[in-house]
Amino acid sequence: MEDVEHIEKKMKLIDENGLRLDGRKPEDMRPIRMEVGVLKRADGSAYIEWGGNKVLAAVYGPREAHPRHLQDPTKALVQCRYNMAPFSVTERKRPGPDRRSVEISKVISEAFDSVVFSEQFPRASVDIFIEILQADAGTRCAGLTAASIALADAGIPMRDLVASCAVGKIDGVVCLDLRKEEDNYGDADMPVAMIPRTGEVLLLQMDGHLTLDEFDKAFGMVKDAIGGIYEMQKDALRKRYAVTAEEFSDLPEQAPPERRAPPEREAPPEMPPEDGEVPQ
Ligand code: ADP
Repeated sequence: MEDVEHIEKKMKLIDENGLRLDGRKPEDMRPIRMEVGVLKRADGSAYIEWGGNKVLAAVYGPREAHPRHLQDPTKALVQCRYNMAPFSVTERKRPGPDRRSVEISKVISEAFDSVVFSEQFPRASVDIFIEILQADAGTRCAGLTAASIALADAGIPMRDLVASCAVGKIDGVVCLDLRKEEDNYGDADMPVAMIPRTGEVLLLQMDGHLTLDEFDKAFGMVKDAIGGIYEMQKDALRKRYAVTAEEFSDLPEQAPPERRAPPEREAPPEMPPEDGEVPQ
């Protein structure tokens, strides 16, 4: 054990020029690309690539909540299932829910529960599925960011978009958006989700230690980063839905809504039970 700690402490994460393993400065984020409306059968969907993370989010609802005894007559349930694919990490991950994914699903559900206007849909559920296809630290932030635009794509009424990013400390320096090695061998990691417009914090977790001054610095950094991610989210939604004046005039005339055929859709999957692991 002592040897492992010794090796971990010796791993240099910041070089003599103050640059990180991938050449980033402490305040730099990894490249982010996001796209809305990538799945045909979900009500809303989004895909995000964030550094080495590849994450898909799908949303169903509002629809009648099942099982019925879970229905709330005053509001909709906002349920999230975060899942890591077995091939998303270097060593094959055992499929199915584990303690970590149950925890992440819970904190993400709670974050969205406070922005969705759930009172408008009594006895219903809004189901959010987050699939981690490739993981490189910061997957809950990437998942939250993608799920937020997937909810907007599904037309779920919300107070605003939610954006998320992590900040941490490596080699004693406060740094934004840690990658896997920095997360593993660093001193602290703090994922944060906010409503960027109001600055309201919907999720804040901490793994490791920060002093009060470091926390203030870290929080300022992550708040600015979240503001930038919010702009990317809005751009991705505009890209999906914006129509130029020329495109608008080129659109074929549509039949009135009541005569349009309903969209083709298969029965969406139910939320799986939370307890009990899926056998291998
Ligand atoms: P986050 O992905 O939100 O940062 P963690 O801090 O718990 O969440 O995980 C950091 C990273 O550790 C993950 O992104 C992933 O790359 C890796 N990891 C997590 N769980 C496993 C696992 N069961 N097997 C292998 N790697 C994992």
